[in-house]
Amino acid sequence: AQTTSRRQDNKVILPEVSNIIAVASGKGGVGKSTISTNLALAIAQRGAKVGLMDADIYGPSIPIMLGIKGERPRMAQIKGRPMIVPMLRFGIEVMSIGLLVDEKQAVIWRGPMASSAVRQFMTDIYWGALDYLIIDLPPGTGDIHLTLVQQVPLTGAIVVTTPQDVALADARKALGMFNTPQIKVPVIGVVENMAYFTPPDLPDRKYYLFGKGGGQKLAEEFGVPFLGQIPIVENIREGGDIGVPAMVSDDEISRKAFESFADQAI
Ligand code: ADP
Repeated sequence: AQTTSRRQDNKVILPEVSNIIAVASGKGGVGKSTISTNLALAIAQRGAKVGLMDADIYGPSIPIMLGIKGERPRMAQIKGRPMIVPMLRFGIEVMSIGLLVDEKQAVIWRGPMASSAVRQFMTDIYWGALDYLIIDLPPGTGDIHLTLVQQVPLTGAIVVTTPQDVALADARKALGMFNTPQIKVPVIGVVENMAYFTPPDLPDRKYYLFGKGGGQKLAEEFGVPFLGQIPIVENIREGGDIGVPAMVSDDEISRKAFESFADQAI
């Protein structure tokens, strides 16, 4: 893995983190958290030091995906102030806003409240030295995104979509957001999730259940790289539900798909 820093700021925020990558989507349920988690694991498996931050304040799913739901984060005094210590899980450092705020509380937060919670979350977690920090953003485009992209020196953003027209339309909005002059975050590329289904007993077939080629076309439209396709695999869904992500499972098909995506992304 590449471990040199691509940051160009003066490192006031997260000074010891070399590369900060945000994972975004136009809408919920397209697999943004699944992609963030498995990307973090794929990079870590190459020897890099990786952190994963779940900033999806309205639907934090990483605690379930990594089997840490209900755990209480530890605090430590860092340079004279109390900070939240991420949890080590499958070789990556993890923290979720879902472990820090009450879910019922978070859903009623809007605009400025949510933004200030996320901002505080950014500055109160002690990540230490990392080669990569992957941030799982909330779906859509809004105040939280603005706050995050303005406060955190992102190396770049990855946009996740599924092949349906309705998902592509929303992904277009997310790509538009990163392109606006006041944000200007480099887009690393588009990844198409749930791209096709291959029945285990028909390994040469690909069924394009949600349509074909939409992710690639979207990437071309914005002149950004296409980072590949992740198929629909039962193991990926099951792994998310039981807290054992595909990258640490024994399913070679899903592992290979995430590995080749990670190759393109970093
Ligand atoms: P988001 O973060 O965009 O809301 P999630 O990552 O939570 O989406 O995924 C939504 C659901 O779809 C989860 O149950 C997840 O396990 C499942 N899922 C995501 N990607 C795949 C895939 N490639 N194959 C099968 N199931 C998937």
